[in-house]
Amino acid sequence: MTGRCDNVMRKVLDEFSIIKKYFTTADSRTDVRIGIGDDCAVLQPPSDDRLLVSTVDTLISGVHFPVDTSPDDIAYKTIAVSVSDLAAMGAEPAWLTLAISFPEYNELWLSAFSESFKQTASMFGMQLIGGDTTKGTLSITVQATGFIKPASIMRRDSAKPGDSIYVTGTLGDAALGLSLISSNQSVDVSILEHCLYRLNRPTPRIELGNAIADYCNCAIDISDGLAADLGHILNASNCGACIIVDNVPVSSELRSYYETTPGLSGTIDWETVITAGDDYELCVVVSRQHEERILAIAKSLKVPMTNIGVINNSGKLEIKYFSGDSLEINHSGYSHF
Ligand code: ADP
Ligand code: MG
Repeated sequence: MTGRCDNVMRKVLDEFSIIKKYFTTADSRTDVRIGIGDDCAVLQPPSDDRLLVSTVDTLISGVHFPVDTSPDDIAYKTIAVSVSDLAAMGAEPAWLTLAISFPEYNELWLSAFSESFKQTASMFGMQLIGGDTTKGTLSITVQATGFIKPASIMRRDSAKPGDSIYVTGTLGDAALGLSLISSNQSVDVSILEHCLYRLNRPTPRIELGNAIADYCNCAIDISDGLAADLGHILNASNCGACIIVDNVPVSSELRSYYETTPGLSGTIDWETVITAGDDYELCVVVSRQHEERILAIAKSLKVPMTNIGVINNSGKLEIKYFSGDSLEINHSGYSHF
């Protein structure tokens, strides 16, 4: 009995010291009445008509990031993917909780992780308000809460035939980065660095999502691949779409990879670009009425937005090349099961 009690005491103390040392920070937001340290966080919701928006994501070592990913990249990405969900709704980021499991106490790993976590949270104006710390396989769950005006919510079920489909930034870099490190293929260092940066440090389009939300009803963030995520919009909206795959924006590094790698003859593997995922760009569906304004906003924020197709009432996603040929995809995106 005594042994068991001692263990329990030690475990609680260890856990408490870890939380205190690595995760407790001074309040950075005035709407946090009680932050880390009590049984629950106590929060002041906005006093105007804004609603709370909540999302949660888990990143598991070896599934969502390669096992040798640096702790600072893991911390960045774990917040970035949640902020990307908030961006896709049009919500302003506010609070974070963090449930973390790690196999053993590792001072270097934990300090790098927690430093990067704090920096990233503050970059998005967010405060860590609580969490849970356990021993186990490396796994990180972040829950993010944001605020939104009811009229500004961008939903998956609001696409209408005739609306234009846009994508921010470029797609396919993260997937190429992952495949390059998995296959240990030797490529130009600038291509590798660019693609690994995009894999480990995705840019959630939060500023853009917030700025267009008043004029845009429908968006999704691209985490499982454009084909799958646009598919979610089409299912929810009961619509179809036609996209021109050669119009999907890709980086000069990705283009250069296909141009310079022997055997690839400059032909981009469009199927991989639109199915591999991990891009954390936005797919935005825009009514003709608001198209000009939304593009002007994107331009002022220096976020590239590329028209890739149109919503129709075909009930399916048609993927075509400029040439008119169809691209049939075999799998539409990452699925865990
Ligand atoms: P309880 O047993 O009551 O759930 P814990 O000992 O798990 O409390 O946590 C104590 C406090 O530390 C709580 O406020 C909890 O939200 C916070 N906390 C625990 N782990 C983390 C973490 N990884 N990041 C941030 N806060 C954490
Ligand atoms: Mg707990």
